[in-house]
Amino acid sequence: MPNITRHQLDSYLDDALNDPETALVEQALRQSEGLRRQLRVAMQERDRGEHSIGAIWRRSRLTCPNREQLGSYLLSVLESDHQDYIDFHLYTVGCSYCLANLADLRSLQAEPASQVRQRRRRFFESSAGLLPAGPGGKK
Ligand SMILES: [Zn+2]
Repeated sequence: MPNITRHQLDSYLDDALNDPETALVEQALRQSEGLRRQLRVAMQERDRGEHSIGAIWRRSRLTCPNREQLGSYLLSVLESDHQDYIDFHLYTVGCSYCLANLADLRSLQAEPASQVRQRRRRFFESSAGLLPAGPGGKK
C-alpha cells in the first residue's frame, strides 16, 4: 500500500495533485480506514480555520461536485466515472457538506414525485368513476 503523507492529503484537498497522484491518494483512501480518518481530521481542521488555506477551500469547495452535478448523480445520469467519483466523495471521503446538499436535493426531488403520484391516483379514481365499466367504453 502506498504511504500517503499529510502533505499529500492537504494537496489532495487543495486539488493540487496531478491525475496519477490523485488516483493514488483515492486508491489508498479506499483501502485504508486509518487514512480516511486522517482525511476527515484534515477536513475538520480546515473547517475550523486552523489551516491557512482553509478559508479559500471552504469558499470554493474545490474537490466538491456542484449542486447540478449532485442532482445528476441522484438521477444516475452521469458518466460512470463521474458517478463513481461522487459516490467516492460522498461515502468514502464522507464529505458532510455534500451529504447535506444531497439530502436537500433528495427531499426536493421526492416531493414533486409524490405529488404527481397523488394527482395520478386522483385522476384514475375520478376517471374510473366516469367511464363505463369494462372494455369498449371508449367513445
Ligand atoms: Zn463535498
